Amino acid sequence: MADGLTARHTLPMSPLLFTNVTAILPDKLFPSAFVLCERGKITSITQRRPKVSAQTQVIDGKGKYLSPGFVDIHVHGGAGHDFMDGTVEAMRGACVAHARHGTTTIFPTTTTGSPEQIHAMLNAAKAVQSERRIENGARIAGAHMYGPFFAEDKVGCHSVEGRRSPTPAEYTGYFDTGIVRIATCAAELPGAVAFYREAKRRRCLITCGHSNASWPEMAAAFRAGTRHVDHFWCAMSNVSSVRARLGVPMRGSMLEFVLGTADMSTEVIADGCHLSPELLDFAYRLKGARKLCLVTDCNRALDLPPGGYRFGAGEDGSWFTSDGKVGWAPNGSLASSIVGMDHMVRQMKRDTSANLPEVIRMASLTPAELTGIARRAGSIEVGKQADVLLIGRDLRVKQVFIGGDEMPLTR
Ligand SMILES: [Zn+2]
Ligand SMILES: [Zn+2]
Repeated sequence: MADGLTARHTLPMSPLLFTNVTAILPDKLFPSAFVLCERGKITSITQRRPKVSAQTQVIDGKGKYLSPGFVDIHVHGGAGHDFMDGTVEAMRGACVAHARHGTTTIFPTTTTGSPEQIHAMLNAAKAVQSERRIENGARIAGAHMYGPFFAEDKVGCHSVEGRRSPTPAEYTGYFDTGIVRIATCAAELPGAVAFYREAKRRRCLITCGHSNASWPEMAAAFRAGTRHVDHFWCAMSNVSSVRARLGVPMRGSMLEFVLGTADMSTEVIADGCHLSPELLDFAYRLKGARKLCLVTDCNRALDLPPGGYRFGAGEDGSWFTSDGKVGWAPNGSLASSIVGMDHMVRQMKRDTSANLPEVIRMASLTPAELTGIARRAGSIEVGKQADVLLIGRDLRVKQVFIGGDEMPLTR
């Protein structure tokens, strides 16, 4: 990275004009577009060439797409780093790796772990967020406090020793850092409703995950502010798992609650390994592009060879194996993805009936809206940050710009 700086970095303020691109707008493709970026923001989107200053750097897109940069609200790490390693180096390394896959805004996500480990992670996220520069990769818009408040029977690949029920004494400290923007808790845990109320007061996106909640528990969570469920179909309840916990009569689960409640949003891991094409298309058709996000849920094995790695903190996270396509826990269940958002976009386009602007929306504007950052990020619109990608017709990322600065793609 140290020698990966390009000439552009000597002129960070020079305007950029993209020509000969098809801009992917939230609701349509906009062909033969000129997109002008000045002082880090998008200032015009036209089909007639705008007048520009002599210092303007012109980038001929040669017919490629200009896409908004991706926004990932659920991601654990990459390039050998898990955010729970809790260091500035790990934070930066994973943010750089994901930027190379098109993610320009990221919400580093906690796993189960000790309060000390979670505080170290949140502090590292704050430190990197406060020194914004292209060498730090994707912008950190906030942290996703995901673990530790998971249900024991739905803990998945997270270490079970690191899970517990929420207490104000613990979570107030996390919220007080000011960096938590997304807050997850399993709805059936004692103290969950108080947790949701506090997260609502802190203006977080509130989500239920790693949970075996019933419909009535979800309804109580909804009343307290919950509007989202983590990785649909993964580590969440269904009618039979709720029956195993609560007996008969059979009850509705998180699944029915999300599908039956218009204001509930959710997310899918569209790596092709977690969910089949019919499930991805079902989620898209039932929830629509405005209530469904693509997330990577990516672990530290991104861009690394197959092998054994730790999920969560490097010192005591649980072991999983990457086979080069996905992570596997020792018990044979999946242990999160190992690919970036560009992969998710290609898979979703291939596997579902969603059109390209809708697929891109699910990876950019929808997560930006849900987390309250859509005024500045998530789409190609005048006034927003110049966080844009040149992507080929095969949807492979060719160039990445964050605030108008180009991210070097080679390591
Ligand atoms: Zn999970
Ligand atoms: Zn996860």
